[in-house]
Amino acid sequence: MQLHDLELSALQDRIAAARADFEAFQALKLHLDMTRGKPSAAQLDLADAMLGNLGPQDVFTASGEDARNYGGLQGLPEVRALFAGLLGAPPEQVVVGENSSLALMHDCLAWAMLHGVPGSTQPWSRESAPAFLCPSPGYDRHFALCEAFGIRMIPVPMTGEGPDMDVVEAHMRDPAVKGMWCVPLYSNPTGEIYSPETVRRLAQMPTGAPDFRLFWDNAYAVHHLTPDPAVLEDILPACAQAGHDDRAFVFASTSKITFAGAGLAFFGGSPANVGWFLEMAGRRSIGPDKLNQLRHLRFFGDAEGLKRHMDAHRAILAPKFDAVDAALRERFDDLAIAQWRRPRGGYFISVDARPGTARKVVTLARELGIALTPAGATWPGGHDPQDANLRLAPSFPPLEDVRTASQGIALCILIAALEAERDARLNS
Ligand code: PMP
Repeated sequence: MQLHDLELSALQDRIAAARADFEAFQALKLHLDMTRGKPSAAQLDLADAMLGNLGPQDVFTASGEDARNYGGLQGLPEVRALFAGLLGAPPEQVVVGENSSLALMHDCLAWAMLHGVPGSTQPWSRESAPAFLCPSPGYDRHFALCEAFGIRMIPVPMTGEGPDMDVVEAHMRDPAVKGMWCVPLYSNPTGEIYSPETVRRLAQMPTGAPDFRLFWDNAYAVHHLTPDPAVLEDILPACAQAGHDDRAFVFASTSKITFAGAGLAFFGGSPANVGWFLEMAGRRSIGPDKLNQLRHLRFFGDAEGLKRHMDAHRAILAPKFDAVDAALRERFDDLAIAQWRRPRGGYFISVDARPGTARKVVTLARELGIALTPAGATWPGGHDPQDANLRLAPSFPPLEDVRTASQGIALCILIAALEAERDARLNS
């Protein structure tokens, strides 16, 4: 049923009932946080063996190098081989960074602005108004990087199979468009998966800027929530096949695999891009922490070990996503108010509330003691033109809290929609 099908008196009755539920929730004096996609303590515990798996005799690499010393800028070959699958790149086209892929994205942007990238005729900062396409809703920290570097952001709608490629291709003719953010697998926050057709078009499209880059953030490469993982087409071979070898910078990390503060981050790209990255990185550091690389190697052993570990994450995470989905379905089974999809992986559930109500939902949730990501955060500049999108992050709180918080959030979405409908009728 649609809200406008309800008689005004029935609408008023529903508001009264929902407000009574709200008061009952308020009496619980909750303190719940669904704001950020952090792994829970139980997930971090899964990698605890890594805290003590390196002894004094065990600090030598496969080639006999002492991992305690300087050097090895690109990362150990055996570690690059283990994680190459996350990037869809051969090990020789992978760099192991420190503990944050966001930091690598930051560095790539900074270097591009200061020096340009392979194929640039001048640094990006010399362009009159360099711009990035920003599939939206998207990852707020990507947008914050653009803001920090004065890069103009152009929102592009999502389709359920990645960004709207007609819109992308239309913008691409503009030489000021230097880059595009992509979270191609289990996108943050919509959870969608770029289709093979989307990947192909991104690789093939003509671009006005000869030095255009896809910032391909494969943060959720192995973070599946179902036993039948989705398959994402690898971007690097697709670009190479299209004759655009240097188009993609690929990023990934183990932040949500081992430790979110002490994992490994990765950069992948064409030989020219990897050469450029190492040239820049070599001025910034004499080499990365290879002991942490060895800890990861000893802990996983091989790709099969990595897969088993992600299955253990899934066992903890999937019930939390189920709990959010169940709470939303329970509340909205007879009223078409909120739209969401149950993601097959990643860390978020994106819910579209009634347009014009997302900010009110966040305020109501706060009154219930439930912290939500600020409305608008998933859009460039913090501005959701529909004021509809909410990003729910169920990974961190215990399952029981996720259940309670989701029921509270669903109630807030309902109240905001019912009252907006009532106000619209009374004001018309
Ligand atoms: N990219 C995306 C899409 C993310 O969701 C996150 C974490 N929320 C990151 C990057 C951050 O990655 P890292 O910890 O490697 O910096």
